[in-house]
Amino acid sequence: MHFVQVGMEFDVLKENSKLAHKNYRLLKEHNIKSVDFMGSIGAGKTSLIIKLAEKLRDKGVRVLAIAGDVIGDDDFARMKASGMDVINCNTGSECHLDSNLITKALEKADLENYDVLFIENVGNLVCPADFPLGTDYRVAVISTTEGDDMVRKHHSIFLHSDFAVLNKMDIADAVGVNPEIIAEDYKKLMGGLKEIYKCSVRTGQGVDEILAALNM
Ligand code: MG
Ligand code: ZN
Repeated sequence: MHFVQVGMEFDVLKENSKLAHKNYRLLKEHNIKSVDFMGSIGAGKTSLIIKLAEKLRDKGVRVLAIAGDVIGDDDFARMKASGMDVINCNTGSECHLDSNLITKALEKADLENYDVLFIENVGNLVCPADFPLGTDYRVAVISTTEGDDMVRKHHSIFLHSDFAVLNKMDIADAVGVNPEIIAEDYKKLMGGLKEIYKCSVRTGQGVDEILAALNM
């Protein structure tokens, strides 16, 4: 029985990967740079996307977002209220976005109008890692409020992303977390090959560095 389930899972991942390539090609045809933001609920993915989009708008860069959630439109509504163009994408019950959902969401947009696509994945640190969506970049967003053991507990999401963001630096002291421990764990896991950006969306610390890391 176990083998059957493993086999099924493999087919699901293979199908996802095929559609991810399709999404990637579609975005490239329209010269769109894309980013998949992954991380827990409350890490600050929505706030970070809104902040990055504001900075890009000031530079004349046209941003589209896809807000992924199991249910509801809270993140969609926040992005919309900030003036962003955004598509709501509910998974229904799945705890991660997949390439097929992104294909369908992109069909709703006029891609000629955009230079950048930001995708907010469902708040979850585990399975989004296994489902690439066809973006140029994948970014893992964590926050100091989640404790100093995040990197030690969740290898996969960090290994499957291009770099990481450590948000809520402004309240690290207040929650009794030493960001250096997290940075050190990350450095060890990645062998120093990838960067973790210390950031505070609220104060603006590190946000320009993240844009630079995305070549935007
Ligand atoms: Mg959010
Ligand atoms: Zn999932």
